Amino acid sequence: MTDISTSSATGERNPVAVAGPRTAADAVTPELVARLVKAIVTGEQPTLAQSRNPFTGEVLAEIPESTPQDVATAFVRARAAQRDWARRPVRERAAVLLRFHDLLFAAQAELLDLVQSETGKTRGHAFEEVTAAAVEARHYGRAAARYLKPRRRGGAFPVLTQVHELRQPKGVIGQISPWNYPLALFVGDALPAFVAGNAVVTKPDTQTALTALRARELMVEAGLPAEVWQIVIGDGPVVGPEVVAHADYVSFTGSTRTGRDVAQRAAARLIGASMELGGKNAMLVLADADLDKAAEGAVRACFSSAGQLCISIERLYVAREIADAFLERFAARTRAMRLGNTLAWGADMGSLVAQRQLDTVTRHVEEAVKNGARVLAGGQARPDVGPLFFEPTILDGVDPSSAVCTEETFGPVVSVYRFDSEDEAVAEANGTPYGLNSSVWSKNPRHGAQVAARLHSGTVNVNEGYAPAYASVAAPMGGMGDSGVGRRHGSEGILKYTEPQTVAVQKLVSMAPSFGMDDEAYAKLLTRALGVMKALRLK
Ligand code: NAD
Repeated sequence: MTDISTSSATGERNPVAVAGPRTAADAVTPELVARLVKAIVTGEQPTLAQSRNPFTGEVLAEIPESTPQDVATAFVRARAAQRDWARRPVRERAAVLLRFHDLLFAAQAELLDLVQSETGKTRGHAFEEVTAAAVEARHYGRAAARYLKPRRRGGAFPVLTQVHELRQPKGVIGQISPWNYPLALFVGDALPAFVAGNAVVTKPDTQTALTALRARELMVEAGLPAEVWQIVIGDGPVVGPEVVAHADYVSFTGSTRTGRDVAQRAAARLIGASMELGGKNAMLVLADADLDKAAEGAVRACFSSAGQLCISIERLYVAREIADAFLERFAARTRAMRLGNTLAWGADMGSLVAQRQLDTVTRHVEEAVKNGARVLAGGQARPDVGPLFFEPTILDGVDPSSAVCTEETFGPVVSVYRFDSEDEAVAEANGTPYGLNSSVWSKNPRHGAQVAARLHSGTVNVNEGYAPAYASVAAPMGGMGDSGVGRRHGSEGILKYTEPQTVAVQKLVSMAPSFGMDDEAYAKLLTRALGVMKALRLK
């Protein structure tokens, strides 16, 4: 590892950067790109878009783009393949997910290279993606049959009416994915759709197309018929609406702004949609928190994937009496973080993904500082490490008029606020239209869980930042308010890809006047029967 850092806003040497011998150019070869892009649905002479290596700014790959007509073709192919796929027993479909779990680990090194080369994150943060995808594959591989099995329901008349609730696949799911977790989210939102008997047409972000294509290749190797998963690539505002126009259900993950547009298009077609959107997530460090653990946890919670994580913490509320002691620990740990710009293990934080992310981060920090905020750690771009690097940054005394207070930064920047009472902390934490993820720190886990239940947030982690709730894939994960509609994981995460169908079998007597009975006599009989059922508590 080579120390290639020289400065920081605080005048100290940290964060220190680490460099290693292998780069994206070693991992993403022209042969690999040529093989992977063949799976994109395109015409004969597609236009080419470029993805770039965030570590260096150099062109990483040329990715062929789909036209609106190609999107239509992808849906026709997926629709034809879905019928046979849906006819296979659930256990056969689930076995594909279980094999995929093993293939993910077998191909781990290669996947880490791809994720890092396309996103600029550290190897450790890329590894979180492999485990997230694998854990979800295993969960739905094992539990799908239970989630999807026909359920007996009480009939109109006991014994005479036998009712089952079935779960039919929606058909072809349109999936739109972001660049920030190109493996975990791309795979995670598609797996439950497949095991429920659907086909999927996915539009990944162009910047992270190679990771998506390699993951799809592994699913095909695991036994998914290739036509069941179609990939289209292109500009979001051009290709995205075409995906919505043909889908039977939409699974969207991305910004709240785009999500609103996608939701409106889905509503106009009367199709369902799940929306996994942005956040402005809060962490509460209560007066009785373990300060060392909370400081360590805050580093993970705020700076994983350079803060380009939807469930990342951007607002930190600290009890006034412990604020100075906590901040001293948190700032020291943050200043000690090592930035990394290669495919080596060992770095604590990587690069931002694109210039627009760096622009937002820079704008938020500069405006906050202009409005009087103090920089406790970081605060500067690091072009000496790479064109899109920005130091992990802690801001104190941020004026509420600053954008960093309310808008999602989606970068390695956290603002600190002090509170005098837990009621005040809860009210402040709940004071944004978002509601994705939060975190509460207390030595008393029961009390922490009580405070957690008062937060307007789809997931809350006690004594961690984001990982336990996300990794507990049997439980739902998603956003309240502007952070989304619907959930991934658990029963919600798979049943959303199904249509409930009620099959009622009527036996012995019809539900109409019979045996020469007139309407009035039938009404009397039915009234009496309902009375008996009420008395016997059958209804
Ligand atoms: P984005 O909304 O710009 O793009 C997301 C996807 O939508 C991309 O594939 C993009 O090409 C496509 N798209 C863009 N315009 C479109 C349109 N008009 N119609 C249809 N599709 C369109 O978001 P981003 O910058 O790629 O991702 C970052 C955002 O995603 C952040 O706000 C983050 O919080 C959010 N996010 C949320 C979750 C979650 O689970 N809640 C997870 C990851 C990211």
